[in-house]
Amino acid sequence: MAISYFERPTSQRLLEMLRHTLDSTGSFLTLVSLHEGTCEIVGRPDWLRPIVDHPAYRTSWRQLVHNDDAEKLYEAWSSLLAGNSENYSVDYRFCDRWGEYRWLREQVAVVSTDQHGRPVEMVVLHREFTPTVQRDKMLDAHDEIVTKMTEGMPLMAMLSKLAETIEAHFPGSRVSVMMLDAQREHLGIVAAPSMPPELVTTFSNIPVGPEFGACGAAAYLKQRVIVHDVREDSRTIPYLPILEPYDLRAIWSHPILDGSQEVIGTFALYRSRPFTPDAEEIRLTEMAARLAGLAIERHSQAELLVRREDRFRRLAESSRIVPWEADGVSDVYLYVGPQAEKIWGYPQADFLKPRFWIDHLVHPDDREMCEELCSKIIAPQELYEWDYRTVGADGRTIWVHDVVNVNWRGSRLAQMFGYLIDITDRKQAEEQLRESEERYRLLAEQSADMISRVDPSGIWRYVSCACTSVLGYDPSELVGTYTMDVVHVDDRREAAELLMAIDRWPDVPNFTCRARHKHGHYVLLETMGKPIYDAHTGRLAEIIFFSRDITSREEQSLRVRAREAELAHAERLSTMGQLAAELAHELNQPLYALANYAQAAQGLVAGWEVPNKQMLLDWTAQMMQQARRASEVVRRITSFVRQGELDRQPVNLNECVEEIGMLMEISARQRGIDLVYELGESLPLVKVDRLLIEQVILNLVRNGLEATEPSEGGAAKLTVETSTTAQAVRLRVIDQGRGIPNDKLSCLFEPYFTTKPDGTGIGLAICRRAIESHGGVIWGENNPGGGATFAFELPHASPAAGESA
Ligand code: ADP
Repeated sequence: MAISYFERPTSQRLLEMLRHTLDSTGSFLTLVSLHEGTCEIVGRPDWLRPIVDHPAYRTSWRQLVHNDDAEKLYEAWSSLLAGNSENYSVDYRFCDRWGEYRWLREQVAVVSTDQHGRPVEMVVLHREFTPTVQRDKMLDAHDEIVTKMTEGMPLMAMLSKLAETIEAHFPGSRVSVMMLDAQREHLGIVAAPSMPPELVTTFSNIPVGPEFGACGAAAYLKQRVIVHDVREDSRTIPYLPILEPYDLRAIWSHPILDGSQEVIGTFALYRSRPFTPDAEEIRLTEMAARLAGLAIERHSQAELLVRREDRFRRLAESSRIVPWEADGVSDVYLYVGPQAEKIWGYPQADFLKPRFWIDHLVHPDDREMCEELCSKIIAPQELYEWDYRTVGADGRTIWVHDVVNVNWRGSRLAQMFGYLIDITDRKQAEEQLRESEERYRLLAEQSADMISRVDPSGIWRYVSCACTSVLGYDPSELVGTYTMDVVHVDDRREAAELLMAIDRWPDVPNFTCRARHKHGHYVLLETMGKPIYDAHTGRLAEIIFFSRDITSREEQSLRVRAREAELAHAERLSTMGQLAAELAHELNQPLYALANYAQAAQGLVAGWEVPNKQMLLDWTAQMMQQARRASEVVRRITSFVRQGELDRQPVNLNECVEEIGMLMEISARQRGIDLVYELGESLPLVKVDRLLIEQVILNLVRNGLEATEPSEGGAAKLTVETSTTAQAVRLRVIDQGRGIPNDKLSCLFEPYFTTKPDGTGIGLAICRRAIESHGGVIWGENNPGGGATFAFELPHASPAAGESA
C-alpha cells in the first residue's frame, strides 16, 4: 500500500501549522482514512464534545446533528462514499458539549481513492458559523415582525412570535417578555412561549427594584443585567426555588424602552447552564428588545388612536352641531351631518329636498326674517351668523344658531357651508332667566322699599322706582351717580365703615342714615345690604340694597315717647292731686273749727263790757271771714283735683273768671301785682266743662304773674279780658312781664317745654288739649309794648240746643 498522504514527513510540519490556523479561526479538521479505519480530529474547539476519533463513532457524531439537518448530511456522505461525488459542503446544526446547537459548515475534500474511484482518505473541514446565521435569521425575523406590525397583528401574538424567533436562533434558550403595570411598580409576563404555565403565573407580579431578579433589576436600572449563574447572584438567589426546577441557570435581561426612553418592560433569555453571552448574542437580544419596544409602543399608539377616533366619533354623534353644505343659487342642502336626523327627526334625505330648509325646517314665524337675512349674503369672504327657530318632525320648536360661510365664483355665489348648533337649551335657560329677572324686577318695582344695585365702587347701577316716593328722584337721575352723595355728611363715615365690613354681611345689622330728598330735606333710611360675588372669580360683583323710609315711623315713635313721658307726668300730677285732696280734707276741719271758735269768741265778746270791745268784735269778724275764705279755697282745690269726665254745660266765661277770682287775687297780691278785669258784657254762652276751663284760666293767670317782676310802686298789672267775636268767645290774659323769646314762640305749647328751674312744662300743653277738646284754639304772643298775651277762643254754644244766656 502506498504511503499514506498524512504520513509524509513534510506534512507533519504542515499539520502543526494547520492546527494553529484552525484554532485561531474556531474551525477543525477531521482526517478520515477509510483504509486505516482512523479518524483524527485536528484542532479541537472547547465546545466540542470529547468524541472518539474512530470512524465507528460516526454514529455518535450523527446523533449530535440536529434532527432536521441529519438527512441532508447523510445523503451527502452516501453520495461521496459511493464515488458519485468528490466533495460536498453541507450546513447543519450540531449539539455542543452543553447540549446547545451550533451551526457548522462541513466541507469534504477526497485526497485518495481506490481503483473504483471510491474515496479512501478524506479531509473534512468543519467551520462554525452560528453568529452569521443568527444575524441573518434575526434580520429575516426583524423584517417579518415589522411586516406583521404594519399588518396590525395583535400585540400578544407579535411578542410571542418574536420570542419564538429568538428561541429558535438560540437553541436551548427560553425567552420571556414582561411588561410594567400602570403604576410602573411591577412586571408581569406577557409572552413566554416555552415557559411552563405555572412559571408564567409565578412571574406575573415581579416588583421593580435592584434586588428583584434579573428582570426587576434591569427595569429598575434601565440597563442590561446578566446573571451568569442564578446560584451565585444575590438578585436571583431568592428565586432559586422557582428557577431550579425548570433548569433556568443563567439569565440576561434587557430593558424594553419606549420612544421617550422610558422603561416599559423587559426582554429576557434563560439558559439551562451557567452562561456568558458573547457580544453578538447580546447585540441580537438587544435588537429583539428594541423590536418588542417598537411593537408595544406602536400598539399603544394604535390603541390611543382608536380611543381618540372613538371619542371623536362619539363626540360628533352626540354633539348638537350639524355641519351642512348648500348650493349657493338654489339654497338646497347638498349635505347635512348625520346628527340632523336625531335632532329634528326628519329622514336625512328630506333635508336634501328643494326648499326643505325654508319651507319645513325654519319656523313659520321666522321665515321672513331668515329670507331677508339670506338676501343680505352678498359680501364675499364673510361669516354670517344668526339665531332662529326651527320645527322638528314632531312639531317641537328647536332654536338654532346658524353659522354660514360663502364661497364665491367670480361675482356669483357658488356654495354655502356652515354648521347649525342646537341652542334650544340655552334659549330656554335665557328665557327662564329673563322671566325670573322680570319677576324680580316687578317685585322690586312693586316694593315700597327702595331696592338698588350698586357696583363695588359705590355707583348706582339700578334703582327701583320707589326712589321717587322715598327720595323724590326719578331712577334715571340716580343711576350712574355716587351713592354717598345723597347721604348726610354726618352719616357718611358710618355708612362707609359699614360698607368696609361688607364681607360680614348680612350679619351686619341694618344701618340707619339720613338721605337727602330731592327737595332738600332729609329722610331717615333704614338699609340692609347683600353682597353679590362673581361665581367664577369669587370677587365682589355688586351690592343689593333694600332701603326703607322710616322717617314717619321715627316721628311717630318720638310722639309715642313724648306721650309716655306726658302720662308719667300726669300720673305724678294725679298723685300730687290726691295728696292735695287729702291735705284739703285735713285742712277743712281746723278751718271749720277756727271759724266756729271765732264765731263763739264774737258771741262772748258781744256780751262783755271791755275796753276796745268794738275792735275785738271786728277782729273776730275778720277771723271768721278769712277762715271761710280759706275753706272756699280748699273746696276749689278739691274740685280741681277731682276733675273726671268732661261735664259740658253752657257757661258764661265771665262767671268762670269770677269763680276763680279769689284764688287769682291771692297769688296776685302775694306778688304785689294788680289784677285787672275787663270783662265783656253779654257774652254768649260756651258749652264747656267749667272746672277744666277755670283751670286753664288759672294756669294762664299764674304764668302771667310768674313772668312779671313785682314792682316797688305796685304799678305792674295783669289784665284778664273777655270779649266776643262772630263765632267765639275770647279770653285774653295780658301781662307786663319779660315776654317770650322769639325762637321759643313755636314750642310754648309742647309738653315739657319750660324755662323755669322748678317748672314742669306741662301747664300750657294741658291748656291746649283742654281748649282743643272743646273745639277752640289757644295761642301766645308778645305784646308790642312788652310782656306777653296768652289767649283762647271757644266756639259759641249752639243756639239750637237752647243754651244761650
Ligand atoms: P311751667 O309754668 O311749668 O314752665 P307752662 O306750660 O305753664 O309750664 O309754661 C311753659 C313755659 O312757657 C314757661 O316755662 C315759660 O317759659 C313760658 N311762658 C308761659 N307763660 C308765659 C308768660 N306769660 N310770659 C312769658 N313766658 C311764659
